[in-house]
Amino acid sequence: MSTPIDRRDALAAAAGLALAPLLGVSRAQAAAAPIQAATLAKPFRLIHMTDIHVQPERQAERGAAQAWARAQELKPDLVITGGDTVMDVFDAKRDRAKVMRACYESMMKDVSVPVLHTTGNHDILGWNRSRTDVPLDATDWGKKWACETFAQPRNWFSSDRGGWRFIVLDSVQPDGNGYKGFLDPEQRAWFEAELKATPDGTPICVVSHIPIIAITAITYGKPPSRGNDTILSGGEMHTDCAELHELMRASGKVRLCLSGHIHLRDRCETDGITYINDGAVSGSWWKGPLEGIPEGFGVLDLRPDGTFDHRYETYGWTAQG
Ligand SMILES: [Zn+2]
Repeated sequence: MSTPIDRRDALAAAAGLALAPLLGVSRAQAAAAPIQAATLAKPFRLIHMTDIHVQPERQAERGAAQAWARAQELKPDLVITGGDTVMDVFDAKRDRAKVMRACYESMMKDVSVPVLHTTGNHDILGWNRSRTDVPLDATDWGKKWACETFAQPRNWFSSDRGGWRFIVLDSVQPDGNGYKGFLDPEQRAWFEAELKATPDGTPICVVSHIPIIAITAITYGKPPSRGNDTILSGGEMHTDCAELHELMRASGKVRLCLSGHIHLRDRCETDGITYINDGAVSGSWWKGPLEGIPEGFGVLDLRPDGTFDHRYETYGWTAQG
């Protein structure tokens, strides 16, 4: 069983030995400089575009096109959308849902890089029974709308790329005419099995729409309180955060958890897991920056040893209308 550190050193040493004749250095010199050799390996570039909220209003389609153009210039190996890709079908009537589908299809027609989609609350059709006219027996009701629109068979899945395993979760569960963030029992069991089945030494990146853990879920706006206690809403952060964190910590394989939903930026690290909330492509729903956070997306360079670099990239959008 190899630890991530063992794996990094092994890869670096192998790279050094292979490159030694080309670089004109001795095998001994190459073996003595594993870290320098490791920097020569090209990392896997992931772009995390969350909360696009594409819509016809406020020139959002033009803004989203600008964001995708910038993302593609950065030559990602993979883009994962973080959920809330359309402005809203949760409250929508059928006519509006058709507009949302058309906006999505128009936005994606010039995208030529590999894309995986996370399902956000706004991508779920007709859960707010007090607002929608979509019947419960419609074939695309609820999360099926997201599956059909994104052409993905399930709202939660995993994919192995670039030496990493990406686990995309479906955070959003019904709560009356609203929702809360947690994994239902079936998905929870699958997630646990998926963590176990991942080979030792393969780093895992977990993507959820609602953050599993995010500082901004606490600091955003004015959090509700009861007496002296701050209340953390289940609509802003996973209610099963402690249990999921313990599962991931115990696995020893999860390095990174990415989320959206809050439209703000934060990063915290505990037990070797880094949690990043990655702003929003739409800023404040295309009305400008939210609490000073401009429209943008996350750019991550991932290395097979589980280390990574992250930055937030803006794309020069100014709110319209
Ligand atoms: Zn959301």
